[in-house]
Amino acid sequence: MAKTNISIIGAGSAVFSLRLVSDLCKTVGLHGSKVTLMDIDESRLNSVHTLASRFTSEMNTELIFEKTTDLREAIKGSDFVINTALIGGHAFLDRMRSIGERHGYFRGIDSQEFNMVSDYYTLTNWNQLSHFLKVAQTMEELCPDAWLLQAANPVFEGTTLIRRNSRIKMVGFCHGHYDVFDVSEHLGLEKEHIDWQVAGVNHGIWMNRFRYKGEDAYPLLDRYIRESGQIQFKPKTPFNIQMSPASMEMYGFYGNMPIGDTVRNSGWKYHYNQETLEKWYGSPWGSPDSEPGWNWYKEQLGQITSATMGLAQAMTHFPQVSLATLISEGAKVFSGDVALEASRLYNPSEMSGEQHIPFIDAIVNDNKARFVVNVLNDGTIEGIEKDVAVEVPATVDSSGIHKEEISPKLPDRVIEWYLKPRVLRMEWALEAFMKRDPNLIVEILLKDPRTRSLEQAEAVVREIFGN
Ligand code: NAD
Repeated sequence: MAKTNISIIGAGSAVFSLRLVSDLCKTVGLHGSKVTLMDIDESRLNSVHTLASRFTSEMNTELIFEKTTDLREAIKGSDFVINTALIGGHAFLDRMRSIGERHGYFRGIDSQEFNMVSDYYTLTNWNQLSHFLKVAQTMEELCPDAWLLQAANPVFEGTTLIRRNSRIKMVGFCHGHYDVFDVSEHLGLEKEHIDWQVAGVNHGIWMNRFRYKGEDAYPLLDRYIRESGQIQFKPKTPFNIQMSPASMEMYGFYGNMPIGDTVRNSGWKYHYNQETLEKWYGSPWGSPDSEPGWNWYKEQLGQITSATMGLAQAMTHFPQVSLATLISEGAKVFSGDVALEASRLYNPSEMSGEQHIPFIDAIVNDNKARFVVNVLNDGTIEGIEKDVAVEVPATVDSSGIHKEEISPKLPDRVIEWYLKPRVLRMEWALEAFMKRDPNLIVEILLKDPRTRSLEQAEAVVREIFGN
């Protein structure tokens, strides 16, 4: 059992905070460690701190949770820094989206070919990219040997940006690759007999290897597609789109199955309007990135934040009542998905699936495990520049990250028609940001099918960035 120092920046995050706290409590090898929670929103910070302290005492973990609103104080002395902060919050993203829509850009100007994910802003959220650099620079000064674990989006642009501008050790994480198991479940395959790899860039990963009991499993997928062709696709949630018509079509065109958020990150052909979205991603939402789909998601996030704050308040008012009882009582008030998430958090035998805490355990305790990581390419994917962040499988142990050889290689169609254009868009966005040049954003919009005139592109950029 090794003690280490971990700081979580943006610790009030609806998506991550309690999952990370709960994973820490369940990771015996990290018990005794110090965890510093940092957020600028004091009420969120206090709630997460109260819950974290209670989790740790009820689960007998001896983790020490501290809290601060000061970035430098959080980072000082850290061995691992997890960044989950969203600068400006969802309110900023909504405001940018609505300005874009007023100027004729359906779903806002940050929705771009191969980057449709609604909280993955690469063009307008320069504050987020600046914050990424600020975290890395502060680490260089105060804890130069520490690891930065990047959770906040955009992970692709962010990992590339930080690794090009800082010497800090860094890895980006996403959970999209787990949809490999959604594919295999639909085919009725047993998880332990699947041999798989995914490769690409964050939110643009492709299942280059798919074998079952030693045999190529792609023919099983082809048969499934032929047989299910007549059944109308009916998603259970906006995110339940791994086996959607969009995914099947992309597989047909690119030659490998797109995995996880890659299915959302298709082209405009699938995203023109709500009707098109529903055709490809199913009704009633038409993907998480439609207006109803994204509203559904924000409602879930709102419920998680309210549940976290409500639980922390209840703990203060009823200190004698156990956390398990409070969680099960609270779960009655919230939707099924939020209630399920709450019960998982407290279940000692179930990890959240986020990779951050197992990664720390692998590094600190040599608890070797397989991860899907975002790191610089350095020749792993042929045809992609060395200094571009790719998302690939790797083994991690106390000596670091060991990327797997990508075998078989990605099809040329994926490299030439998907990854290279996506990489180019990343380069454009980073250049516009580094030069703080809104004219470059106008240039990007001139290549956008929603642009009807130069005046339209200039007007939206003027309203967002000022003159
Ligand atoms: P959220 O708004 O609920 O949480 C973000 C937190 O950051 C808030 O508590 C906010 O107060 C805090 N914050 C804002 N400015 C800060 C600052 N300057 N310093 C410290 N903290 C600050 O957002 P969310 O929905 O939980 O998403 C958080 C991030 O995670 C987003 O970038 C989102 O896109 C990303 N995300 C990543 C993945 C992944 O797998 N990598 C999955 C989902 C979401």
